[in-house]
Amino acid sequence: MQLSLIKVCSITGLFVYFLIGKICLMCVWPNNIEEKQLFFIVSLYVVHLITYIIVNGFYMACYESKSKYISKAKIEQKPWPWDGKDSKVWQEMKRLYWKNVIINQFIMIGVAYSASCFKLDTRFDETFPTVFEISWQILVFGIIEDVLFYFSHRLLHTPYFYGKVHKVHHIYNITVSWSAEFAHPFEYILGNLIPVIAGPILLGYQTHMITILVFVGLATHKTLSDHSGFNFPWDVYQHLPLTTHSEFHSKHHSLNTGNYSSTFTYLDDLLGTTINK
Ligand SMILES: [Zn+2]
Ligand SMILES: [Zn+2]
Repeated sequence: MQLSLIKVCSITGLFVYFLIGKICLMCVWPNNIEEKQLFFIVSLYVVHLITYIIVNGFYMACYESKSKYISKAKIEQKPWPWDGKDSKVWQEMKRLYWKNVIINQFIMIGVAYSASCFKLDTRFDETFPTVFEISWQILVFGIIEDVLFYFSHRLLHTPYFYGKVHKVHHIYNITVSWSAEFAHPFEYILGNLIPVIAGPILLGYQTHMITILVFVGLATHKTLSDHSGFNFPWDVYQHLPLTTHSEFHSKHHSLNTGNYSSTFTYLDDLLGTTINK
C-alpha cells in the first residue's frame, strides 16, 4: 500500500476512534449518575486497564511473531530484553515489572481520587460531546500533558532525580510496550498521571466525562505504542505534524538524553534538546 494512502487511513482512523469511542460509551452510559466521584474513578481505571491489556496483548503477539514484515518494523538493532540478557536478569526484570504493576494500581486510584476531590465539575449528563468537541478538547489536553511531561522529564534527568527516580524507567534501554508505565512511584505520579489528568480538571464543566475517557484510552495507547520498539507505517503519530512517535522516544531510551517530549516535538526543538541522529 502506498505511504500516502496509509497516511490518510491512519489519520482518518484517529477520528473514527473518537466516533466509535463516543458511541460505545453512549450505549452503556447510565441515565442518572448519582455517585459522580466514584464513577469518575472507576471509569478512568477501567478504560485504562482495558486499553493496557488490549494494546500490550497486540504487541506481545508482535514480539512472538516470526513475520518479516513485523521484524522489519523493529527500530533498534539491539536484541529484545529477553534475548540479549542473562536469563536471571530477565527473570528479575519480570519480577520487578509485576511488583510495579500492583503498586501502580493503588497509585492510579489515589491520584484519580485526589483529582476528584480537588475539582470535579466535569459533565456527566446526556449533553454528549460531538466529535468536533472531543477533537479540540483532546488537542488541548495533549498540549497541557506535553508541557507538564516535558518539564517534569527534564527534572527527572537532573543527576539527583535520575539516580533516585528515573533510572528505574531507563532500565529498558531498548523499549517494549509494557515498559511505558514501569517507573518509580514518584515519576508515575509526577510524569505520567498528573500531566494526563491536568487538562480535564482545568477545562472543568466544558468537558464531558466521555471526552476524558476517550482521551485516557488514546494517551494509554500512545505511551505503549511509543515504547513498543516498532515503527509500523500505520502509526498515526508518524503522519501528524509536530507529534512524537515510537522512534522519537526510542532514541531517548537508547541514548539516555534528548527527545524529552511525550506528545509534540516543538518544545524539544525550541529548547535545543531534539536528537536527530
Ligand atoms: Zn528519560
Ligand atoms: Zn520512556
